[in-house]
This record gives sequence, structure tokens and C-alpha cells, in this order.
Amino acid sequence: MRTECLINGEWVGADSGKTFEVTNPATGRVLTSVPRMGGAEARRAVDAAFAAWPAWRSRTAADRGKLVGELGRAMMRDQDRLAGLMTAEQGKPLGESKGEIAYAASFLEWASEEGKRLYGEIIPASAAGKRILVLRQSVGVAAIITPWNFPAAMITRKLGPALACGCPVVIKPAEDTPLSALAIAELAEEVGIPAGVVNVITGEAKAIGGAWLDDDRVRKLSFTGSTEVGRVLMKGASEHLLRLSLELGGHAPFLVFDDADLDKAVAAATACKFRNAGQTCICANRFIVQEGIHDAFVERFAEAINDLKVGEGTGDGVSIGPLINDAAVEKVESHVRDAIGKGGTVRAGGERVRIDGLADRFYAPTLITGMTPEMKIFREETFGPVAAVTRFKDEDEGVRLANDSEYGLAAYFFTRDASRLMRVAEALEYGIVGANDGGPSTAQAPFGGVKHSGFGREGGRYVMDEYTEIKYVSWGL
Ligand code: ADP
Repeated sequence: MRTECLINGEWVGADSGKTFEVTNPATGRVLTSVPRMGGAEARRAVDAAFAAWPAWRSRTAADRGKLVGELGRAMMRDQDRLAGLMTAEQGKPLGESKGEIAYAASFLEWASEEGKRLYGEIIPASAAGKRILVLRQSVGVAAIITPWNFPAAMITRKLGPALACGCPVVIKPAEDTPLSALAIAELAEEVGIPAGVVNVITGEAKAIGGAWLDDDRVRKLSFTGSTEVGRVLMKGASEHLLRLSLELGGHAPFLVFDDADLDKAVAAATACKFRNAGQTCICANRFIVQEGIHDAFVERFAEAINDLKVGEGTGDGVSIGPLINDAAVEKVESHVRDAIGKGGTVRAGGERVRIDGLADRFYAPTLITGMTPEMKIFREETFGPVAAVTRFKDEDEGVRLANDSEYGLAAYFFTRDASRLMRVAEALEYGIVGANDGGPSTAQAPFGGVKHSGFGREGGRYVMDEYTEIKYVSWGL
């Protein structure tokens, strides 16, 4: 297990020698400690990345792609080891951790190929003696700040395209889950990505983020995390007009129309809501169900929820692990209390699950009916295993309820009417729409939000725009 940071090809501790502890959320026990770095180390990471930029961007795309692809393959070779590490620091069930490693590696594989297709353009000029060339070039040093809910994939879906486009990176993973990030850095070194091209530091978020925002050599910041921190970063970025990608909070609606395939809708609702114990930015948070199918949906959904096993992520058949920390459990409790106080009915779960020998961070998968727009759960991201349901009469009302949020990341709906499918897909004010699909995330498709969910796209060919500049060369003959 790597417990030092990687700067310029060297594994180092904080200048101060200080560290902070990483704990297993399921047991509450300390796993290890990692460096508590700050502004000075953050600037040194940029020194390294900036120095590495000319050589890295001058390599051929095929050459860069080969290394990026090898990093993905090394992750798959070590899938079990990396999954174990992830479950230990993050808590998610081992099967989900394995799935995340494969998902994380898929971004590297995709980017390794897509880097070869950064085509420019030659545009017919209006003057006979001129030629118009358009080049796509790497933006430069990219800073990457990631959350704890997907400790590997949130890194690789930025890292892969950045590297493929010719950008060296400085990475700061979340305090709760630094070990997966350090393990990826170790593999980057092992496959031969040159010193300084990938730098990973752990420590004080504000000091590190502040140092990067203040540094003119950082040309791009890609952030996944809360809307609140996204706003802080956007303000800070204005000084140097830093390019941003912000993948922020979500509050996904999940519409079920009377004509939906009930089996599919229930299966998708269960997977989409309870993956990672509901701690994902695209997980369904508001179930909006048409009157005719409401009762049948609730009954089937409650059955599916009662089948979910809660426990430590390493346990057999466990599908709901611990929440990341005490504050997360308290937030879930406050949402459930508020919903009950405002007339909601608990149909499954509704309380903590206490397990001998483990930390008090487990919450039963929960179903609440009678959700209203006045409830916290309708307005705020719960980030926990709670599904709340409301009913609607017609398509207009359903879409209106779905769009009644400041967020705009992902939305889901189920219908068997092809005309409605396109109408509703177009009407939903969200960056990602799962139409009869509860799991839309994949490396080749654009991922990102609108409204307070941020801007910029990750995945597919679209992400390459985030790490490249367009240069116009007017060529007089
Ligand atoms: P979450 O609610 O998912 O923990 P946060 O937005 O709080 O989301 O954190 C996401 C990432 O942003 C983490 O790596 C965290 O350390 C980092 N972060 C938090 N505050 C700041 C800040 N002021 N500047 C830079 N990074 C920050």
C-alpha cells in the first residue's frame, strides 16, 4: 500500500512531516496515514508537471496512447488488489469495487484510442494566397480534484483524456479515499509514464486548491464534487481565467409512466438508487410515479429493497455497505425525519442498522411514499440509501415535477410509448437521460450536467475538447 505522494517521479512525505489518518468506514479502524501536504508541495507538483509538458506534448498520440492503455491494463491485472483497497477505504461492496476498477480502466482504454483522432482542419480561404489551418493542441498542466464516492473512476476519466491530449496532471484525491489514487499513481510509474507527467498529492484541500488556482501555469481544472465547492473554485478561477470542468451535485428524478415495463423499472430503480449505498451523483433521488402504476411499483420496489443485504463490503451477498462517515448518516436521518414529519410514510427501512463489531454507519435501504415538494428529500441530494416516491397525473405534471430542481445532472424515465420517449427525453432539463435505462454511464458517452450540476463533459470524444485548445493558423503563401 503506497502511503507517500508522487511528485516528479519521487515518493515523498509532507514538508512538515505531518500526516492524516485514513479509516475504514465499515469498522471505524485506522488503515494507515498519508501526507498532509499544502501549498508548497502543490506548487512543486506544478513545477514538475509544467517542466514535463513540452516533452509529453511532443510525443506522438500513439506513443502517449500506448502508455495510457497500459495503465488501464495494469489496473485490470491488479483488479482484485485495487478493489480490496477501495472497499477498505470507501466501504462499497467488493463486487462494486471490482466493477469500478473495470469502469475506471475503460476510460483509460477509450482515451488511449481517442487521442489518435484529435484531428485538425483545413478551411477553404477567401483569399487566393492564403490557407486556413486549425490545430488542436494540449491546454497544458491540468489540475484534477476528485471526490470519495468513486475513488478510482473519478480520477481516470479525467486522467486518461488529459494524458492522451498531451497534458501533464496534478491530482488531489478526496481526504477519505487517497489510497486508490496513490495506487493508480504507482501503476502510472510502473508502466513508464515519465516523471512529472502524473503527480498525486494528498492533504489540505483549501491550501492545495488555492495554490493551483493562484498558479498561472495551471491551465485547466477539472473538478468533481459538491456544488458548494464548485462555486468556490469557479470564483477562484476567475483571477487567471482558468478553464474549468465542473461535475457537481445531482438530484435525479426517476419517472415511471403507467405504460412502463414494471419489471424493468423496478430492477433499474433498485440498481440506480442503491448502488454505492446511494452515494452517487447520478443516483435516482426522487421517484415520480404515475397514478395508475404507483401502488404496484411501490409494492414491488419495497420487496426488492427488503431483499438488499446490509453489511461490511467484504461480506458475502452484501449490497449495501456503510456510509462514508458519521455526517453522512446524520444527513440521511435528518431527511427521513423531515419526510415523516411532513406526512411521508415509511414502507421499508427507515432506521440505522447496528452490526456487532462494526461502526455505527449503516443505514437500512429505505422507501418513503407520499413525498411532497416541501420535503428536504425533494430539494436536496440525500446521498444515502433512501428512495422517496410521489405520484403524478399526466405527462406534463410528471415532467414539471422532474424539472423542479436547481440540479440538472441525470434523469431517468420508463415508458413503452415511443412518441412519449422522445418528447420526455427532450423536455427533461438534464445533461444525462436514461430512457428505459437506469445505468447510462459509460466511457464512450458524454457525462455532465446543466444548471447547478455544472458544465463540461467527460467521456466520449467530447471530453477531448476539455483538454485541448483550438489554434487557428492563417498561412500566407
Ligand atoms: P463531497 O461532498 O463529495 O465530499 P466536496 O466538494 O466537499 O464533495 O469534495 C470534493 C473534493 O474537493 C475533495 O477532494 C475535497 O478535498 C476537495 N475540496 C473541498 N474543498 C476544497 C477547496 N476549497 N479547494 C479545493 N478543493 C476542495
